[in-house]
Amino acid sequence: MKLSFSPADERFRREVAQWLQRNLVGEFGKLKYRGGPGDEHTFPAERKVWERKLAEGDWTCVGWPREYGGRGCSIEQQVIFFEEYARAGAPGRMGHIGEGLTGPTLIAFGTEAQKQKYLPGIVAGTEFWCQGYSEPGAGSDLANVKTKARFDAARGKWLISGQKVWTSLAHESDFCFVIARTDPDSVAHKGLGFFLVAMDQPGIEVRPIEQITGTSEFNEVFFDAAECAAEDIVGAPGDGWKVAMGLLGFERGVSTLGQQMQFQNELDAVVRLARENGAAQDPVIRQRIARAHAELRIMRYNSMRMLSSQSGSDGGLQKEALIYKLYWATWHRGLGELAMDVMGPECEILPGAPYELSRLQSMYLFVRSDTIYGGTNQIQRNIIAERGLGMPKEPRGNL
Ligand SMILES: Cc1cc2nc3c(=O)[nH]c(=O)nc-3n(C[C@H](O)[C@H](O)[C@H](O)COP(=O)(O)OP(=O)(O)OC[C@H]3O[C@@H](n4cnc5c(N)ncnc54)[C@H](O)[C@@H]3O)c2cc1C
Repeated sequence: MKLSFSPADERFRREVAQWLQRNLVGEFGKLKYRGGPGDEHTFPAERKVWERKLAEGDWTCVGWPREYGGRGCSIEQQVIFFEEYARAGAPGRMGHIGEGLTGPTLIAFGTEAQKQKYLPGIVAGTEFWCQGYSEPGAGSDLANVKTKARFDAARGKWLISGQKVWTSLAHESDFCFVIARTDPDSVAHKGLGFFLVAMDQPGIEVRPIEQITGTSEFNEVFFDAAECAAEDIVGAPGDGWKVAMGLLGFERGVSTLGQQMQFQNELDAVVRLARENGAAQDPVIRQRIARAHAELRIMRYNSMRMLSSQSGSDGGLQKEALIYKLYWATWHRGLGELAMDVMGPECEILPGAPYELSRLQSMYLFVRSDTIYGGTNQIQRNIIAERGLGMPKEPRGNL
């Protein structure tokens, strides 16, 4: 496990920090610490402009290879970038789905034409993506998708019909990657396709879903013969599952360390409040804060271990990676609960009832979802049991 950075890495750290210090000012100053968990709905237009600013500085897609417009950073440099980004309080990234999921997937599985068509807009911070996986009957059981894609030979296009749900930032996105059934008679993970679909077209309707925070970060998305160019299927018809699973593998990237720096920012806010309102005098609260601090350190060490083994030679999914999602999601949910206990009875008071939440209140409410998206805690435990501990697989109905 690598726990230190070279002098060159530290110089890179100063470069990132200085650039952020110089640029996160003026019109962007108000974006500091905004757009994080429970706050994603804030300043979307301004955060898109910020993406273009990042692109000007060559700070988008830092981990992508140079040939695709990335910065070609080493794992260590990427870690540093995301850490400094969060440390500076730079805003939640509007481009994270394109940069973290679409791009790496196209680089791995896309045609040259798809790379030429879609990667530059992601790098430039001008085109934004959303993820069309989940459906009303397909969440944990993703292979149950019912959305269909039919090839219309006369028009030379795929026509997509069906419904997606919980689609984060669909209302702010230019494109969506959609898993749909290319073979209407197929079941489970066979007969699927992975499509790159433009959002701005008559065949797509986006309806916001109001969340417990009163805001709408995600949506229902209805496809009614939505068009997708013949060449915009990634992989062959029927290969969608392979591409879809490849994409999920990219979710556990180096940005996780930046996420931990955000967690640190949130924990710091909780500690500040505990000092201010006297909750820090309570021995049980003190213990819980100390525990949260220690667990966050452990999370960091485990991520470093995970990242160093990811860059290792065998390329297989390491056991330390299997526990990661369950660990951080559970920790973060616990931090929300700790924040409310530190606030005390005040946490139940909403000045502008019902929805004018303080940052900690909206963090508390939003982090309830951390243990659901990206694979629920129960699914994570199944994965740990089956792949990590070699226990028998759970029975799988019609699979
Ligand atoms: C904030 C947020 C953002 C999201 N953004 C997106 C997005 O952008 N794009 C997208 O496609 N999806 C998105 N999702 C959807 C997310 O991926 C699903 O909610 C998740 O996969 C769970 O699926 P489900 O909601 O259908 O619940 P279900 O799969 O119906 O699960 C219901 C309950 O049953 C449990 N369960 C299910 N199967 C098993 C099993 N085999 N063993 C044990 N327990 C089981 C689950 O753990 C859960 O507690 C988002 C969700 C949230 C909360």
